[in-house]
Amino acid sequence: MVGTNKHIAILGAGESGVGAAILAKKMGWNVFVSDFGKIKEDFKNQLNEKGFEWEEEKHSEEIILTADLIIKSPGIPEKAPLIKKLREKGVQIISEIEFAGYYSKAKTICITGSNGKTTTSMMTFHILKKAGINVGLAGNVGTSYAKQVAENDFDWYVIELSSFQLDDMFKFKADIAILTNITPDHLDRYDYQMQNYVDSKFRIIQNQTNSDYFIFNNDDPIIKVELAKRKINAIQAPFSLKEEIKYGGFANEQQLTININEQLIMSIHDLALKGKHNTQNSLASGIASRILEIRKDVVRESLEDFTNVEHRLEFVAKVNGIEFINDSKATNVNSTWFALESMEHPTVWIVGGVDKGNDYSELMQLVKDKVKSIICLGVDNQKLIEAFTGVVETIVEARSAMEAVAYGYRLAKKDETVLLSPACASFDLFENYEDRGNKFKEAVRSL
Ligand code: ADP
Repeated sequence: MVGTNKHIAILGAGESGVGAAILAKKMGWNVFVSDFGKIKEDFKNQLNEKGFEWEEEKHSEEIILTADLIIKSPGIPEKAPLIKKLREKGVQIISEIEFAGYYSKAKTICITGSNGKTTTSMMTFHILKKAGINVGLAGNVGTSYAKQVAENDFDWYVIELSSFQLDDMFKFKADIAILTNITPDHLDRYDYQMQNYVDSKFRIIQNQTNSDYFIFNNDDPIIKVELAKRKINAIQAPFSLKEEIKYGGFANEQQLTININEQLIMSIHDLALKGKHNTQNSLASGIASRILEIRKDVVRESLEDFTNVEHRLEFVAKVNGIEFINDSKATNVNSTWFALESMEHPTVWIVGGVDKGNDYSELMQLVKDKVKSIICLGVDNQKLIEAFTGVVETIVEARSAMEAVAYGYRLAKKDETVLLSPACASFDLFENYEDRGNKFKEAVRSL
């Protein structure tokens, strides 16, 4: 794929778009960058410094529709009028990761799933780095893959992939694929058909051969059904919290075992990240590392000293004996399920925001067992109030992080926990989940 004199249009000028532009230029393509929204200052500066042609707040169709290749930001839905027109014209549309893959010889560990992608990616990266491997971190976390392919020379990449990125990937192949779990999410982008979303996640194993590896959650019912339907070429290395696995990993309440080559055993209590979901993430990262033949003591030590990623069950502070935890990244019911499941003290739960079609009945038992009060933090809290009235003692509504934290402080007693785990997107009251988490932390710190 040499681009000499060919035209590429890059839609979306964020981290991935700008990275793709840098690589495309290096490879001899004529590059045009177009963003329908406003481009962030930092990215504008990068585009200007490197002399790119770009536009914002519009899409110049006369240029874009005549391009030879389109690189599309994962945020742009299939429904967008411009994408429809490009499809009608038959112009090839790919993701930045697919494009970078054309020019990279490095090996890849690619991670997808409904939840746990970032945590597992960062953890895997942490282990590989500690083992002295020349490794880059890319995809949804860190620097753009394309930019790194243009400017670095890594032997391995750990790449976090969303289903949206996978949708525009065709030739790309993961040497090691990790699928953490599949639960309903983003169905609005998949015609409300769960199977479409499942198929998208399973693209993580596309093009794999019998010398590649597929690490997956063996306890996940949706993955199980899918596996029964598909022919898997890769070597399978599953993980489980329910049964022993001969080739892969498993854990019970006491210890974690990884059976890849020699056996690695460690105590669950030594894992840096607590909660069952994080044991699953640790298993996935540990298996990948052992496939790379990283020494057992390095894997063990890395799983012990990994520091959690911000906004994921992040301990904020203890104020007068009340613990505050920020899990703002929990934007669906499944991630909140794991958060509630890992609570060890009576909990005041801050929940709400933009509901993506949540079914709260899945949380009912946990709420009965662990939650004493609910603070709804959203513009429209009706569904939450209906679901949990009579289940907990108190339900109140808040319109800002400050107000929610003040209620939390009032409703919780010493040795109890205030947990922000919204199960919803954030954009009714906040810019994004980071903004929500940061405002929550600021409010806690100012108590
Ligand atoms: P992603 O990148 O897939 O969104 P993150 O690692 O950022 O995943 O975690 C998102 C949310 O899901 C957090 O609230 C976190 O505590 C929770 N979580 C992390 N790992 C898992 C898992 N394996 N299963 C379910 N929930 C998880």
